[in-house]
Amino acid sequence: MADKKNYYDILGVSKTASQDEIKSAYRKLAKQYHPDFHPGDAAAAEKFKEINEANETLSDENKRKQYDFELEHPGMGAGGNPFGGGFGGGMGGFEDIINSVFGGGFGGFGGAERQTPRGSDIELTLNLSFLDTIKGCTKTVSYMRNEPCSACGGSGAKGGTAFQKCSRCGGSGRVKYQQDTIFGRTIQVGACPDCGGTGKKILVRCPDYKGKGYTHKETKFTVNIPAGVDSDSSLRKRGFGQAAGNGGENGDLYIRFRIEPHKMLVRRDKDLYVTVPISYKTAVNGGKIIVPGIDDTLELSVDAGTSSGTKFCMRGKGVKTVNGTGNLYVTVEIDVPKRLSREQNKKLEDYEASVPLKYCDKMQKFANEVSAIYGKKIEKQ
Ligand SMILES: [Zn+2]
Ligand SMILES: [Zn+2]
Repeated sequence: MADKKNYYDILGVSKTASQDEIKSAYRKLAKQYHPDFHPGDAAAAEKFKEINEANETLSDENKRKQYDFELEHPGMGAGGNPFGGGFGGGMGGFEDIINSVFGGGFGGFGGAERQTPRGSDIELTLNLSFLDTIKGCTKTVSYMRNEPCSACGGSGAKGGTAFQKCSRCGGSGRVKYQQDTIFGRTIQVGACPDCGGTGKKILVRCPDYKGKGYTHKETKFTVNIPAGVDSDSSLRKRGFGQAAGNGGENGDLYIRFRIEPHKMLVRRDKDLYVTVPISYKTAVNGGKIIVPGIDDTLELSVDAGTSSGTKFCMRGKGVKTVNGTGNLYVTVEIDVPKRLSREQNKKLEDYEASVPLKYCDKMQKFANEVSAIYGKKIEKQ
């Protein structure tokens, strides 16, 4: 659970502050940091948000009690929530993480508002090859979970229909009850003890799995991975997390991807990058070179007079995604031979001597600048 903000500190009140003290502190601060008085000031806006968040919790005695409990029992997290955690327990799906940041500060309150119990989310990692992600693929996924009973659809009632509305909560799954606390008598809302929060009363229990509505077993299915996924994307399959049983909502399954890199191609979003070594002769005379592509090699025409480090763009040869197709960027690099025979060295010297400086744009420009700035004449080097 993320670090907890101290709402008392935010409002500048003591832990034993009365509701009047909280209200007055909130009004004063809210006026002071109201965005209307601080246009474009992000810090003030953040502060204003914090103040409201703090007030929302501390001005509600139920929430405040829950908050005090959490504040004094760090680490207990949603487990300390008397209504049963609404936090997805353990595996923590992405939605839950988002909720915990933007919601009431911590997931505990979610449990009180949720009507029916919900199973935990499950997170799986799927290994994909580079080509799998680029071309799309079909994978079989298998994992252990509490799978909803097929005979009753997870309801725990025979045939999935042998139930009626819970009479205690009228089908809402929630009941109010009084509680005496140090703050006086308060009204709490919690899961209905008769139906466990499902709002349904089972008339005849499903004979399978003792009427729990689920069983621990292997779940197996095939999943179509669309072309263009990358390691940042994940796939959510609703209802494929843990079954809650007794008519509760199933958790979700989140599939993350672990992608094996290609040995030659580097992928950045839709685009692919590769460096291809070429000879001095090809750089000078130009010619066709072979470059690695997705399915097969491709042919690229290199212009005569291409420098080392020149980048070529092969349009549409990148990754096809739902957001369009990327390009393949080819950088050529002249591979300089490490060792030549004496005869080859001599030929190269003769050749270089035969090429005048004025044929070499960069060297010519460089020589001109050295001459202008330092007053020295240089040749090819
Ligand atoms: Zn069943
Ligand atoms: Zn009930």
